[in-house]
Amino acid sequence: MAFELSPLPYPFDALEPYIDATTMQIHHDRHHGAYVTNLNNALAKHPEMQSISNIEELLRDVHTVPEDIRTAVRNNGGGHLNHSMFWTIMAPNAGGEPSGPLADALKTSFGDFATFKTQFQQAGMNRFGSGWAWLIADGNRLSIESSANQDNPIIEGKHAVMGVDVWEHAYYLKYQNKRADYLTAWWNVVNWPEIARRFAALHK
Ligand code: MN
Repeated sequence: MAFELSPLPYPFDALEPYIDATTMQIHHDRHHGAYVTNLNNALAKHPEMQSISNIEELLRDVHTVPEDIRTAVRNNGGGHLNHSMFWTIMAPNAGGEPSGPLADALKTSFGDFATFKTQFQQAGMNRFGSGWAWLIADGNRLSIESSANQDNPIIEGKHAVMGVDVWEHAYYLKYQNKRADYLTAWWNVVNWPEIARRFAALHK
């Protein structure tokens, strides 16, 4: 049972002008594609790992993965999980503000939506080098964290409602070194209905 790269759920140019088509194509096909290939290659070294099909469980229990492939699974499995989420929490004709229970939880946790946005963006700015900024849910309590490399919060038993990729490969072609400009533009493609669905799914 090998992991697979799902097609992007919209055309490569669908997030223009905020995220350019070339970045989306390279990011999805080559970067995410390589994480999937490398994850499968690592797992192939251990036949007993072939039955694992749930990427979240694999990463949550990464400390039990055979030592010789543990780092490869952590990095490439994380890359697969993170990007699988990332494509779905963006969409064309998106942005704006969430509504419903997610909006209420953001208000309770951060005071107001603008404060949340500022703090989330700051977490992305403060992540030195490559990594992600995350919105974490613990029940209805939301918090912001960031992680290095492709580490997903599930490795620490935490649940990400949303995350933004701050690796240079996510923005460098269009924004060069201006990570702040990328993060500011990114709000225009945020798919709040999908993020609200993820938040609700954590309460099942
Ligand atoms: Mn990426």
